[in-house]
Amino acid sequence: MTEMAQEHYPNEVGTSLVGCYSDDGFEASVLDLAPLSPDSKGQRTSFYRGTVGLRKFFAKLRQTFSGKRHYVGEWHSHPDGAPTPSGTDDRNQLDITMDTKTNCPECILIIVGGPNFNEMGVFVYSRKQGKITLYLMQNEEI
Ligand SMILES: [Zn+2]
Repeated sequence: MTEMAQEHYPNEVGTSLVGCYSDDGFEASVLDLAPLSPDSKGQRTSFYRGTVGLRKFFAKLRQTFSGKRHYVGEWHSHPDGAPTPSGTDDRNQLDITMDTKTNCPECILIIVGGPNFNEMGVFVYSRKQGKITLYLMQNEEI
């Protein structure tokens, strides 16, 4: 994520997250990143995550791993910004969570931000509980 964020600096970039769940459903592992869709559009303070090729990618993934690897969420960069979701991020992520077609009622969002992308935030958007901050690493500079 950091490498990709640096490659696209000063613009935002991001992809979907690939992972799996524990048998009891209480733990999610993020194992890989989906490819960057060619129709994605990153600007200084906004990012549109494209969709081209993703359906195929996830279908193949399901087949290869017998359904044990699948979509678990999204990540994107906030170049020189706080690794916390914007109002738009909150809305988009909740939309994904509520979308029954995506079938991801507990959707992860990872944001890499800060100077040189050394800050990170991990959030879960839950259909039942809303936004939950799982992890937040921010450097306090005085
Ligand atoms: Zn954002």
